[in-house]
Amino acid sequence: MKIIMLGAPGAGKGTQAKQIAGKYNIPHISTGDIFRANIKNNTELGQKAKTYMDQGLLVPDELTCDLVVDRIQQDDCVNGFVLDGFPRTIPQAEALENALAKLNESMDFAIDVDVPDENIVNRMSGRRACLKCGATYHIVSIPPKKEGVCDNCGSELVIRDDDKPETVQKRLNVYHEQTQPLIDFYSKKGILKSVDGTQPMDKVFEDIVNILGA
Ligand code: ADP
Ligand code: AMP
Repeated sequence: MKIIMLGAPGAGKGTQAKQIAGKYNIPHISTGDIFRANIKNNTELGQKAKTYMDQGLLVPDELTCDLVVDRIQQDDCVNGFVLDGFPRTIPQAEALENALAKLNESMDFAIDVDVPDENIVNRMSGRRACLKCGATYHIVSIPPKKEGVCDNCGSELVIRDDDKPETVQKRLNVYHEQTQPLIDFYSKKGILKSVDGTQPMDKVFEDIVNILGA
């Protein structure tokens, strides 16, 4: 099963993608996580990506598409994958489509996690992330068992550099301009499904399982 998670930054794509990956036993591929790991390891890609991410801008397609096209051809993707944060532009969606077409394949579902802008600022200001294992929490709605400490790996939780309120507004603008057109793109392909992302995390997941099948 090949799934794309769509939605505004902070809509809950990562939260849901991790659960989907667990239930359907497919890898969770998050371009944001890949860039953050590269920043942490101070790679050349990480240094380049950081300059865009810190400003709330998208990393250029040239740095993003090949990375994902290579990743989805690795052995663990034979039964599918869930893409989180990719594609974010029409050229990225076309690059993905072309790469899959060469393998005689295509995406199965694009799930739009729908959350209005007014809820997003609250979501992002309360987000706490573990940069070691990629787990994500929210200080009010999905708190860790011990404040500031990751339930999974015990590492310290941090506020992401790009979750500052001034950057959040910029990211929302970028989402509406560059990423939202993908909703229409996948609707025309007949694979778009929408879920109400303002519901509690477990209810959103239930709706997604109803779409994907048990
Ligand atoms: P995205 O991957 O779309 O940027 P995340 O999955 O990181 O979003 O979620 C953003 C924030 O909202 C996190 O702090 C997460 O814990 C919280 N969150 C995710 N889903 C829900 C939900 N259904 N209700 C309330 N908070 C949520
Ligand atoms: P995310 O973790 O998905 O919220 O992504 C964090 C940041 O990484 C984004 O604001 C972008 O700067 C960058 N990024 C992640 N995925 C992409 C992508 N597919 N295209 C361009 N930039 C991306």
